[in-house]
Amino acid sequence: MSVFTNIINGTIPCYKIMEDENFIAFLDINPIVIGHILVVPKVEVDIFFELSDGLLTSILQFAKPIALAQKKCIVCNRIGIATIGLEVPHAHLHLVPITTANDLNFTRPKLKVEPLQLAAMQKLILEHL
Ligand code: AMP
Repeated sequence: MSVFTNIINGTIPCYKIMEDENFIAFLDINPIVIGHILVVPKVEVDIFFELSDGLLTSILQFAKPIALAQKKCIVCNRIGIATIGLEVPHAHLHLVPITTANDLNFTRPKLKVEPLQLAAMQKLILEHL
């Protein structure tokens, strides 16, 4: 069972941003940029492009209000998206506030963010959703 399935089942906590019957979005606890969010389909499929056509087409619609909220409250030029999946074998979309292309460079060291900072970022994004 993936760490994300444990989050979906509520056995591991997360800084939740949004949830519906098919997806959950929460803050990345080791972000590459402050305000980095993961959008995760509830079905545990490893490879992003092996998700059903329905989930592939609806994941961006689910992500849209979240990305708009990030753009409103985080200083950035736009919200970049990526799928990597080399660390957690459970398909997910990264929503990353970016100013330069290097902000989407996943080989950079991850940021260490304190729980209080993550909670404050969660609150800020929720206020702009
Ligand atoms: P990747 O599989 O390479 O797309 O990366 C997985 C991402 O999940 C990384 O950016 C991790 O920081 C993030 N991550 C791993 N465990 C957790 C967790 N428990 N809560 C939030 N984010 C996580």
